[in-house]
Amino acid sequence: MNYHIRYYGDPVLRTKSKRVESIDEDFGFFAEQLVEMMYEYDGVGLAAPQVGVSKRVFAVDDGTGSGWKVVINPEIIRRSQETETNEEGCLSVPEIYESVQRPKKITVRYQNLKGEIVEESLEGYPAVVFQHETDHLNGILFIDHLSVTKRRLLHRALTDIQRRAVPRMDPDFEEPHRLDAEPNPKAKETF
Ligand SMILES: [Zn+2]
Repeated sequence: MNYHIRYYGDPVLRTKSKRVESIDEDFGFFAEQLVEMMYEYDGVGLAAPQVGVSKRVFAVDDGTGSGWKVVINPEIIRRSQETETNEEGCLSVPEIYESVQRPKKITVRYQNLKGEIVEESLEGYPAVVFQHETDHLNGILFIDHLSVTKRRLLHRALTDIQRRAVPRMDPDFEEPHRLDAEPNPKAKETF
């Protein structure tokens, strides 16, 4: 199956994804494609719903030097009271970069590709990416964390993405295609 990036306006991005019940060969093959697409699109993270698959899994390479990781059935089991604000972007919401406030430190639990349960404490950039991707599995986008005023200011840009994205929901669509064909002049990281 050919996967392609789903954009703001696609209902799959607003759907709560289903738990992964079996980490079998087919799933491993899908996970591999997710990792490949993350690199193809220069993302630091890519969640399954962003390629139209409503499953609780995401790929990540947060640039800490440990390479890529596939995170399955993630849970955030602890969040610090202390928050931090970082600029975020999203492959599914191209060309929009905004500051998002989130808990600074989190403790997470997930399954890896071997089905093992992993528990980690994250802070800084890896914590931001993990929260952003886990949000995707719950139908939440980073723009949902912005103030009403900010969202109102983005309304036109979002409507524009939606308008351009709709033809890409055509089931006959085959080629993976970037919504923003031009290289991003801001060259920021997106996930
Ligand atoms: Zn995203």
